[in-house]
Amino acid sequence: MEKRAYVPTIGLEIHAELKTTTKMFCDSANDSEEKTPNVNICPVCMAHPGTLPVINKGAVRHVLRVGVALGGTIADFTEFDRKNYFYPDIPKGYQISQYKYPLVTGGTLEGADITRVHLEEDTARSSHDKGNYSLIDFNRAGVPLMELVTEPVIKSAEHAGRFARELQLLLRYLGASDANMEKGEMRVEANVSVSATKKLGTKVEVKNLNSFRSVERAIEYETNRQIEVIESGGSVAQETRGWNEDKQETFSQRKKESSHDYRYFPDPDLPKLKLSEIAEFKKETLAQSIPELPWEKRKRYAEAYGIKNEDTEAFVRDVALARFFEETVARGDGKDFAKLASNYITSDLAGLAEGDINKTAITSETFARLIAMVAAGEISSRGAKDILAKMHKDGGDPKKIAEEKNILQRSDEGELIAVVEAIIVKHSDVVADYRNGKTSALQFLIGQAMKETRGAANPRTLKELFDRTLAG
Ligand code: ADP
Ligand code: MG
Repeated sequence: MEKRAYVPTIGLEIHAELKTTTKMFCDSANDSEEKTPNVNICPVCMAHPGTLPVINKGAVRHVLRVGVALGGTIADFTEFDRKNYFYPDIPKGYQISQYKYPLVTGGTLEGADITRVHLEEDTARSSHDKGNYSLIDFNRAGVPLMELVTEPVIKSAEHAGRFARELQLLLRYLGASDANMEKGEMRVEANVSVSATKKLGTKVEVKNLNSFRSVERAIEYETNRQIEVIESGGSVAQETRGWNEDKQETFSQRKKESSHDYRYFPDPDLPKLKLSEIAEFKKETLAQSIPELPWEKRKRYAEAYGIKNEDTEAFVRDVALARFFEETVARGDGKDFAKLASNYITSDLAGLAEGDINKTAITSETFARLIAMVAAGEISSRGAKDILAKMHKDGGDPKKIAEEKNILQRSDEGELIAVVEAIIVKHSDVVADYRNGKTSALQFLIGQAMKETRGAANPRTLKELFDRTLAG
């Protein structure tokens, strides 16, 4: 029998802890760096009876800005719901989330349609790996958590990885979340199904994905596993599976609760919000606060500088490096200067600065001067690298360093013409070859002149002088 072509379908659910000073419904600190357990807590996030939650405006604003950036629809009306379930990490017995009226619906990212973006509270952090007991840290209980859900439209593990990376970048650009996956500030769940027809297959939800790499690997693994199940005559069970990082495989955790098990209902302790009546949540007002977004920056860089895509990507991923680049380019002229600057930043300077451009003694001003010297042929690329290393360590002016190191290339025609003429006399046979059409002979003559000046001559000036002298 011919093997059928199975196509995977992926829908992502991504949580991100929002950057706010205080928690979602109380004024306990929201501090993901806090190491001492159970210090950022209060009666509200500990669910003491008689306490009342208060909505954190900053958290709502973060989600709305994400919605605007994604081109989604900002809700006119919104409310919070109780999602009821019992677990030790959720002291109230329910999580405050959003069900029917999420803050944002629709929008797209990396070519994938977004279903919704809503706001909820994070749970406490439990650890079961200490021994014959479990520990719970409530510092995280009630931290504002954004949840973004995509439509089942993602077609490969690679696409899913790209989507998640782009979302991380967006959250950072917006200052909405630090979104480090290793720290659990961003958490990705992947729903995966396979099908050989137009109809979608049964989905499996994969949890515990702590890096982009594991997102991709888990989706690949799950795709293959489901195909094998079907090919061997079985059917895929709808369930939640975990990702075992050591074994690089998914494992069954539990059959998924369907949503009615949570008995969602509007939280009677919280006001319903008519967002369109809150001035600062108007779409135009929010839009004004949105910085240049990653995809806008890519487009601008491609148009304005004509630099390599991978260079652009380095700048899009590192805002400080991009600022340094733009400040440099503003001190030079034209696309060639930009390309030269970009080359030296991404292949030399970024390495010297070890990922933090603020940790170098070079300023965009001294760097621009260095690039101008390279562009004018005053120093060789070898010389530029030496000067760069020195500037990185001790700062200073590139011209001065070049003089100290005695590596300024001579472009002074008056001085060099004598050298050129001497070479022409000395190598008359090569000159004859050149005149007979052997154009490569010119390179030899320039090389001889370079040798004569011990590398201090500007090869471009030499070429011009040879051209002129030999034509005359
Ligand atoms: P649930 O009711 O289990 O929460 P939803 O329909 O709300 O399921 O979808 C949750 C996530 O699963 C979404 O990201 C959605 O895109 C994805 N999803 C739904 N159906 C499929 C499917 N057949 N294959 C892959 N992903 C799916
Ligand atoms: Mg949720």
